[in-house]
Amino acid sequence: MHEIQLHNTLSGKTEPFVPQKPAEVRMYTCGPTVYDYAHIGNYRTFIFQDILRRFLKLRGFRLNHVMNLTDVDDRIIANSAAKGLSIRDYTEKYVQAFFDDCKTLNIEAPECWIRATDHIGDMVALIERLREKTFTYDSEGSIYYRIAKFPNYGKLSKIDLSGIQAGARVDVDRYEKESARDFALWKSPKPGEHFWETPIGKGRPGWHIECSAMAMKYLGETLDIHTGGIDLAFPHHENEIAQSEAATGKPFVRYWLHAEHLLVEGEKMSKSLGNFYTLRNLFAKGHKPSTLRFLLASVPYRKQLNFTFDGLQQAASSVERLRNFTARLQQGKFSAGKQKGMAARIDQAADEFDAGLSDDLNTARALAAVFDLVRDANIAMDKGEFRQGDVAAVQSLLATFDRVFAVLEDTDAERLRVLGYGAKEAGPGDAEIERLIAEREAARKRRDFAAADRIRKELADRGILIEDTRDGSVRWKRK
Ligand code: AMP
Ligand code: ZN
Repeated sequence: MHEIQLHNTLSGKTEPFVPQKPAEVRMYTCGPTVYDYAHIGNYRTFIFQDILRRFLKLRGFRLNHVMNLTDVDDRIIANSAAKGLSIRDYTEKYVQAFFDDCKTLNIEAPECWIRATDHIGDMVALIERLREKTFTYDSEGSIYYRIAKFPNYGKLSKIDLSGIQAGARVDVDRYEKESARDFALWKSPKPGEHFWETPIGKGRPGWHIECSAMAMKYLGETLDIHTGGIDLAFPHHENEIAQSEAATGKPFVRYWLHAEHLLVEGEKMSKSLGNFYTLRNLFAKGHKPSTLRFLLASVPYRKQLNFTFDGLQQAASSVERLRNFTARLQQGKFSAGKQKGMAARIDQAADEFDAGLSDDLNTARALAAVFDLVRDANIAMDKGEFRQGDVAAVQSLLATFDRVFAVLEDTDAERLRVLGYGAKEAGPGDAEIERLIAEREAARKRRDFAAADRIRKELADRGILIEDTRDGSVRWKRK
C-alpha cells in the first residue's frame, strides 16, 4: 500500500496524511445550507468527501466524521421570515430532500449528523469564552470578532490584511476577501426575525461560529481533517480558525481539504444563466444516479469539473462498461486454470488503483487502472484465453473499487422510484431472471423455439436484455 498524500490548503502543499491517533480520523464537513434544494455543484463537493471517507475506511481507519446542516444563516432567516414560517418548518423540506439525494447518490451517512439550531447553547458558550479573552466587542446588540487581535488571521486563505481598517465591520455571513473585516459572532434581531433568548442577549448566531462550536464539541479542539468547497476557505474557514484557535490556543485543524468548483458548459452555475441543475432536474430528464455519481467522482477534486451533457453520456457508458464486465465475469464460462501473466496483471492494477487514490485522491488515475485491466481482460476473454482461476482476483479488485466508487450494483431504478421517477413497478429480481433464462435454455434444448422466444420477449418487455455469447453462456443486463 502507498503512503496517503493529501493537499493541505493551510500549508499549500501535498503532505503525508498522519492522523493524531494512528487508527482514527476525526473529520468535519460543512454541510449544506438548507434554504433551497442543493445543486449538482454542491454534490460535487459532497461526493469528494464521500470518496475521501470511503478511501480512508478502505485503508483501515475508523472514521469519526461529523457533518452539519446549516439551518440558520442570513438566507434562511430572510426566507423563513418572508414566508411567515418557523425556521424548522421552512428548512425541513430541504433537509429531507438533501438526505434523499445523498441516499440516491450512494453518499454514505457520516457517523454524526447535526443541526446548527440544536447547538445554540454551545455557540453562546464559545462566544462567552472569546469575550472573556477580549476577542470580541459589542455594538447595537450584536457581538463582533476583533480580527486585529488574532495575528494569524488570513493564514488559510493568504489574504493581505494591510488595507484593513481596524474596527470596520461586516454583518453578512458571506462576503469577498476585499471585505475582510471584523465579523459578527452574534446578530441582534431585526423586526420580525426569528431570535433566541440567551445569556448574551436576544439574537442568532453568525454562520461561522456555528461550525467552530459544533466541530469542537464532537471532535475535540484539534481535528484531523476539515473539508468543504473552495468558496468556503474564505471567509468561513478562515473565521472558524480565528474563533477556535483564539478560544483554545491550539491548532484547530491539521489538514484542510477543499474541492474546486463545478462549472456548467464552462460557466459558473447560476440560476440567472439558466444552467442551474438539481439532481431532480437531471433525473426528470432520464439520467441515472450512478451516472452522475461516476461523473462527479471521476475528475480529481482539486480540478475544476466542467459539467456537460456529453460528459454525462460518457459517464453512463463507463458505468455500463464496468457493469457489463462484472456480468461477463460472473456469467461467462471460462476454462479451468489461470492465464499466464494474468495474476501479475491484476496485482499491478490493484497497486495502481491504490497509488492513484493515495496520490491526493487522484480518482482519474485510480479509474484508469481499473479500466485498463477491464480492457485487457475483455480482450483475453474475446480470444478465449481468460481462465476461471483468475475470476476471483478480478472480482476482488472490482469489489475494492466499488467500496470507494459505489456504482457497480444496478439499483438505479429502485433509487429513482423512491424519489418518484421512472417506472412505477419494480423489474424482476436476479433470481427470477436466472430462472427464466434457465427455462429458456431448457426450451431451446428441446428445440421448442417458440417457447424460448416467448421467454426472451417477456424478459425484454420487463427491461431485461439477454445475449447469447460465443462460449455458449447467456449474459443478461437491465436496460
Ligand atoms: P452551501 O450550501 O452553499 O453552504 O454549500 C454546500 C457545499 O457545496 C459547500 O462545501 C460549498 O463549498 C459547495 N459548493 C457550492 N457551490 C459549488 C460548486 N459550484 N461546485 C462545487 N462545490 C460547490
Ligand atoms: Zn461550516
